[in-house]
Amino acid sequence: MRLLVATGNAHKLSEFGELLPGIPLVGLDAFPPAPEPVEDAPDFAGNAILKARAAFERTGAPTLADDSGIEVAALGWGPGIHSARYVPGTDADRRAALLRNVGDAEDRRARFVCVIAVAGLPEGLPLPGGLERRDGCVLARGVVEGEIGFEERGANGFGYDPLFVLPSGRTTAELSSEEKHAVSHRGRAARAILPVLRAHFGA
Ligand code: IMP
Repeated sequence: MRLLVATGNAHKLSEFGELLPGIPLVGLDAFPPAPEPVEDAPDFAGNAILKARAAFERTGAPTLADDSGIEVAALGWGPGIHSARYVPGTDADRRAALLRNVGDAEDRRARFVCVIAVAGLPEGLPLPGGLERRDGCVLARGVVEGEIGFEERGANGFGYDPLFVLPSGRTTAELSSEEKHAVSHRGRAARAILPVLRAHFGA
């Protein structure tokens, strides 16, 4: 038995391979192609749940999906669930728009948020503190706090990483992937859910 990671993104699948050591993973490419569900829920948890449930109901395989984004104080804590579509174009276009819209705001607080949803786990599986069950899924949430820098720094990572300054003064784009996993929203959510997956997959 394997855990299906409901993403068409090869980068995310390999990232979850690093974050969930010992859990046998499989990607959506192992199943016949199907349209991706519309991510129209009002929050990260809702979008992660609808992605996990759609793939579980189609394949019958226990399925993990995540939804993530950046929340910025100076933007009323947006773009949040709209981070990937903040403006049309590339990640670089979205970073430029974010930097322009934050401008010279004094309050530069920001956070990355990730919610992981796993569908298809048995109801009776005991949950450690910090996890919750919703709509047939087990949910884990991870957050990392930082600030929006005044310019881009670093060449690693993706998305808004070059603008996201940690309390250490480094951006998440200046970290190796191991260093980023240790502090990141996705790393935190994955570590929270790992014991449940280990219990279920006997890993
Ligand atoms: P989704 O979770 O695939 O829907 O996309 C979330 C979007 O949020 C990404 O396209 C990025 O723009 C942003 N994002 C989420 N996590 C990170 C991260 O670790 N670094 C940089 N940007 C991120």
